[in-house]
Amino acid sequence: MAGTAESVRSELQDVEVAGKRVAVQLPEGLKQCANTVADVLKRKGAKEVFIFIDPAYGACDVKDFEAKELGADVLIHVGHNRFGNTATEIPVVYVPLTLSLDVEKIIKVLRSIPGKIALCTTVHYLPYLDRIKKKLGNKIVVGKSTFGDEGQVLGCDPSACSVDADVNVVITDGVFHGIIARMWTGRKTYVLTPAGKLIDMEPHAEKYVRQREAAKALAKTARRVGVVITMKKGQRNIKAAKQLAKILESNGLCADVLVCDYFFPEYVKGMPYDAYVFTGCPRVAIDDYARFEKPVLTVAEALEVWNGCKVER
Ligand code: SF4
Repeated sequence: MAGTAESVRSELQDVEVAGKRVAVQLPEGLKQCANTVADVLKRKGAKEVFIFIDPAYGACDVKDFEAKELGADVLIHVGHNRFGNTATEIPVVYVPLTLSLDVEKIIKVLRSIPGKIALCTTVHYLPYLDRIKKKLGNKIVVGKSTFGDEGQVLGCDPSACSVDADVNVVITDGVFHGIIARMWTGRKTYVLTPAGKLIDMEPHAEKYVRQREAAKALAKTARRVGVVITMKKGQRNIKAAKQLAKILESNGLCADVLVCDYFFPEYVKGMPYDAYVFTGCPRVAIDDYARFEKPVLTVAEALEVWNGCKVER
């Protein structure tokens, strides 16, 4: 906690807030630093500070509209990089937050992996990729995300792994991004934790495939389907949801379009649907699989289950 608070403090140093009303979004893992953030901003001359306590899972979830309603002049979004070129109501400053990494330890592990490595990571370790690549030369290849970030992998955008290599290595703390990289490229993938532990994604990918097949099989038996739109700016997919609902109806199902901000299992508890298709973050259908009483599919999975039709995005 002390180290994280220190990183937050140092990364906020260059943010210009004097005389401004400032709204702040923090991801779950950084909420314990809320008072540090408020403190730093006030000492830097912020006129007012508002801290959102809703979860902020990614830069796809920017509360610029709400911040404007609060009278804020600027929104500081901590813990993530900017997400595409979505226009915002007020200026948004992204403070990605770099976490400490023992680069020499990471390099030692990478050297032990045979073949050419497609190296990617999450936002917190991005600044280290350059140094690693310089040390390991042609052994490492770093691709670009859809938004042009070198080596950044997101749950909804693993395209940084789409490079010619023998194996993927994702430097990260959990297995989620590793599974996504493995599924996207179909090649051997390891997660390399900041502590230097190498985790083979094969068993995790197999479990993931089993889980998704089970969800699809269950959804196939559904009669009533809820097609869920989230109103989060970076996840909003209204067109696809409407088209999908029509496709499902033309397949003889009853399909309703449901709207939310967060798609939490408790929000649909007791609702009369046999399955859901979530048109927002693909992570929800995967990470929260066990928490939903009914199967939740991604749009791609829904199209596979019901007719193989295509929808425009
Ligand atoms: S994976 Fe989900 S939370 Fe992360 S950026 Fe993509 S849509 Fe947002």
